[in-house]
Amino acid sequence: MKKDTKVIRAGLNKKRNAGVVNTPVVRASTVVFETLAAMRDADERVLKKNEKVLYYGRRGTPTHWTLQEAITDLAGGADTVLAPSGLGACTLAVLGCVKTGDHVLVTDSVYGPTRSFFDGFLKNLGVEVTYYDPLIAGGIAALFKSNTTLVFCESPGSLTFEVQDLPAISAAAHKHGAKVAVDNTWGTPLFSKPLELGADLSIEAGTKYIVGHSDALIGTITGTAEAIKGVQKASGALGIAVSPDDVYLATRGLRTLSVRLHQHEKSALKVAKWLQTRAEVDRVLYPPLPDDPGHALWKRDFTGACGLLGVVFARTSQAAVEAFIEGLELFPLGFSWGGFESLIAPVSAAAVTRTAKPWTAPLPGIRLHIGLEDADDLIEDLEKGFARFRKALG
Ligand SMILES: *Cc1c(COP(=O)(O)O)cnc(C)c1O
Repeated sequence: MKKDTKVIRAGLNKKRNAGVVNTPVVRASTVVFETLAAMRDADERVLKKNEKVLYYGRRGTPTHWTLQEAITDLAGGADTVLAPSGLGACTLAVLGCVKTGDHVLVTDSVYGPTRSFFDGFLKNLGVEVTYYDPLIAGGIAALFKSNTTLVFCESPGSLTFEVQDLPAISAAAHKHGAKVAVDNTWGTPLFSKPLELGADLSIEAGTKYIVGHSDALIGTITGTAEAIKGVQKASGALGIAVSPDDVYLATRGLRTLSVRLHQHEKSALKVAKWLQTRAEVDRVLYPPLPDDPGHALWKRDFTGACGLLGVVFARTSQAAVEAFIEGLELFPLGFSWGGFESLIAPVSAAAVTRTAKPWTAPLPGIRLHIGLEDADDLIEDLEKGFARFRKALG
């Protein structure tokens, strides 16, 4: 099946849904059993064999299984664990792989809140953290210690857009008996498949393109048969449960992921190429651009690009960036991305924390999410922004 077909068919189960196309929202805590034998049977099937049968709400309902199976199919893994947010998926994946006394390697380009988890919560649990240059590739072999159990990647990073060499990193990690977890939010399960590149766990902030409409939070972790076991255990132990209403919105969003992403990609490429012609712009950080430093790896490992890109100004100031941003009509200021709408966020020095490899591009810059509006309207809005930018720069 081609992937555009898969995104429509994955997880659909006529039998489970009594003919209803989209699995309805099944809200449940308690599930009652006809007989004691039926209860014991469910006990056995759920607790011992990890089968997906109705047992108790926290263990999932058909609403959850539909999304889990769909993402598993798209990402090419053995199973998927759901988390109540993208950040929750990142932290749960880590907690499923490490214990006190372990050492983890984390990309210096990692999403800020994930970094805070490593620096605070995880260090307090007695896990040692070393940040590495996102572009280290096979060179990561030199950083392993006897207690290194996990390498955490994010490719490309959502602020600096460095594309990582996942096959090289995975080969080095496996040689040392460590697992590899990848935050694949930018690539989406449609355009990037970390498990096929050698990783053990592929994480999505489904909040972004899978939900696609900026109205729900969710995270997914898909793993190999061996790696997902630890994540399932951590999820069970911590009592992680995701609202079936949010899961429903994610599955609903998933069905149009391909058409939306292709449009985001087309418009983002048009805007990115236009931005490259502007005198105010030094660099556009977007791996599909042929002169992007990550282009070769992106071309090798990805089958498409989303609508998120960065802009490094040639000469910049706080006042100029403020003037640029605040007059825009089609780029509201907001965190997150992946919804149908365009967004802008300033990229300040404070947001780009780096310890292994300093980020040398001038800051502040901006990050744009190119939504599903007409690209020409977006360009016109940005053009007016540049006029304000130049005036404020003086
Ligand atoms: C947004 C984001 C997350 C966190 O997702 P939430 O659902 O907002 O918690 C994690 N990783 C990346 C790369 C993100 O962009």
